[in-house]
Amino acid sequence: MGIIKLLDEQLANQIAAGEVVERPSSVVKELVENAVDAGSTRVDVTIEEGGLQLIRVADNGSGIEGDDVETAFLRHATSKIATSKDLFAIRTLGFRGEALPSIAAVSKLSCTTSARTDGLGRRIVIEGGTVREIADAAAERGTDIAVRELFYNTPARLKYMKSIQTELGHVSDYLYRLAIAHPHIAFTLKHNGHTLLQTLGSGDGRQALAAIYGTALAKQLVEVSGESIDYKLSGWIAKPEVTRANRGGITVIVNGRYIRNYALNQALLQGYHTLLPINRFPVAALRIEMDPVLVDVNVHPSKLEVRFSKEAELMELIEHSVRNALGNQVLIPQIAKPA
Ligand code: ADP
Ligand code: MG
Repeated sequence: MGIIKLLDEQLANQIAAGEVVERPSSVVKELVENAVDAGSTRVDVTIEEGGLQLIRVADNGSGIEGDDVETAFLRHATSKIATSKDLFAIRTLGFRGEALPSIAAVSKLSCTTSARTDGLGRRIVIEGGTVREIADAAAERGTDIAVRELFYNTPARLKYMKSIQTELGHVSDYLYRLAIAHPHIAFTLKHNGHTLLQTLGSGDGRQALAAIYGTALAKQLVEVSGESIDYKLSGWIAKPEVTRANRGGITVIVNGRYIRNYALNQALLQGYHTLLPINRFPVAALRIEMDPVLVDVNVHPSKLEVRFSKEAELMELIEHSVRNALGNQVLIPQIAKPA
């Protein structure tokens, strides 16, 4: 008799959770991305004690069909891709089918959802990966997921959590960037009863940035746009008078996904050329649209890192468009030729 055995589903989920659910902000990220993928126009995030007590994400999106509710919490269950061909043309934020089972494995989760408009939905309660309750329930169209006592059954991970302020910082930082990426969605973030973010969902990028950075900074923003063979760039960048001590004010969004990419940040800085004081960094929100075939989002479970097949072209577009936008604003008044 061999000694190698397949892990049971619950244990496999707990192991996957180690990668997918690093801290409260990872839960917020996964739940909010699901809300975005569901076509929501409102997403309300409520957290308590930095998310360690409670993370609740309520949306008005498509909801989950009653018959699908249990399946949604199974590992590798997704409605977003079906074939390996789909994997190379990802248009949604999620596709791995890992978030819900992973979160449910390391918390006490309840989900009320409805895909209908007659007020009828379904509620499921899962504790440490075990389904405790599943029943019909009254619900508006949309999904409302509450995650309580994150890591209650993984003491080693719980111990690793930082202060409430630090965890809250990670949550708000992520949500700010998603709100920038999706100005058509009205986001709210509440922590211990206080509202920290409220965007209107008007579709106006500058308005979303004003909700996050304040109206004074929003007034210092210059619009950027440009196009190359494969990429379309749009967004807002702050005039070089407004700078930060680090790169935290830079948000790059690729096909609706907030990503981190050193090379693209460098291209942005190159675009400012000598206008930035040494060791100072701009505030900027760059949106890049492209054929999803040209970007590999399946690099890491968190999907924060992506790979571009034509990175040099994209860097050139960013540098050139930023320089153009700043040139129009900053340089032309100085070098304007007489008519
Ligand atoms: P993925 O997002 O990678 O598909 P998840 O585990 O995050 O995997 O979610 C599993 C499935 O549950 C999704 O594919 C989707 O069909 C459904 N789902 C999850 N959250 C929502 C939501 N807020 N609204 C509608 N459907 C949802
Ligand atoms: Mg998901």
